[in-house]
Amino acid sequence: MMTKGVGAMQIVDEKKSSRSAYPHTHYTVADSLMRYAERLGYGDVHMKVDAKTGLKAIVAINNLNRGPAIGGCRMVHYSTIDKAVEDALRLGYMMSYKAAINNLPHGGAKAVIIKPKEIKDKDAFFEKFGEFVNELGGRYITAVDSGTSPLEMDIIARRTPYVTCTSKSGADSDPSPLTALGVRRGIEAGVKFKLGYDSLEGIHVAIQGAGHVGYCLAQDLKARGARLTIADVNLKALQRCIDELGANVCHPDEIYDIEADVFAPCALGSVLNMHTIKRLKVQVVAGAANNQLAHHHYGQLLHEKGILYAPDFLINAGGLIHVAVIYDHGNMEKSLEQINNIYHTVYDIYERAKQENCATNTIAERIARDRLK
Ligand code: NAD
Repeated sequence: MMTKGVGAMQIVDEKKSSRSAYPHTHYTVADSLMRYAERLGYGDVHMKVDAKTGLKAIVAINNLNRGPAIGGCRMVHYSTIDKAVEDALRLGYMMSYKAAINNLPHGGAKAVIIKPKEIKDKDAFFEKFGEFVNELGGRYITAVDSGTSPLEMDIIARRTPYVTCTSKSGADSDPSPLTALGVRRGIEAGVKFKLGYDSLEGIHVAIQGAGHVGYCLAQDLKARGARLTIADVNLKALQRCIDELGANVCHPDEIYDIEADVFAPCALGSVLNMHTIKRLKVQVVAGAANNQLAHHHYGQLLHEKGILYAPDFLINAGGLIHVAVIYDHGNMEKSLEQINNIYHTVYDIYERAKQENCATNTIAERIARDRLK
């Protein structure tokens, strides 16, 4: 029985809680997010709420051991704040791995702005976000991501120097072609390692998803003489691949059964799982999608099946490499040089995985983790 008096636990009636002196807090959600942050090795997580402009933003700084953390600012709709925080945590963590494996002098972070129904004063909104970034004292450098563009970065730059991808920065406003370049280099390294070919001429690539990255990749591969089979749930995107690239197309579910040299997942995460890996008839898997392995262990399953897997966080980091190079006073030439280097980084991982008889993702994650210490 609960005792009354000092120190006794108060049972809050949720329906009446809005009238109580202190707002009711759902500790369980905060607790699980904190545990998630702990699991991902954070770091610090910052939140800004500004009633005047309507800004609600989160900056998740995962790791600073290699230098100031860098990562895009995403502005999309979220059904709950918890989902936004979780997204920021997950994406910031991934940025640390991408930066470390590609030897960037940066840690990983991500900003998430919860897209409001309406932004009354866009300048005030993004200036406030710029102030938020500035308050972090250079620990976090922001850049474009889904829902933001150089226009927003220009406004942010009025309040902080810790921003890249402004219209005057020399950065490409769309990172997708640079991401596609890194993926193509990953494919070339895989084709060389597994099939012994220096060229993509006649190589058959099955691409899942012909969106921003998938289409750029398809264009590039086509120009290099590769044969393409493409699947997409968007019929318009698919028609464009037929009309402009002369590609073969298939039903989205059939892409796993295509007999090809390479499978390039460029749509969704978790596509490499127990069911799909069994069906694959390819030598190499190398694509742009984040978190392709539904579980870390599926890297081992691919290895046992003799399928060479290019770790996604390594080969899809072209966009991140570009913004980091530009922020560090580099130029397009320097960023292309570093993105092209993905070939050597991934080739080295293929070799080490063969020597140690283990999965490529295990090797890549180990290298990144060591560099983040
Ligand atoms: P996008 O939304 O432009 O393209 C995704 C495409 O996949 C769309 O055309 C969509 O219709 C298609 N698609 C969705 N479900 C599908 C299914 N079941 N089967 C086949 N096709 C399907 O996205 P994007 O910018 O091209 O990014 C693709 C992937 O690469 C994402 O996972 C993204 O997180 C990752 N990525 C992108 C970048 C970048 O620079 N854009 C950088 C790193 C990682």
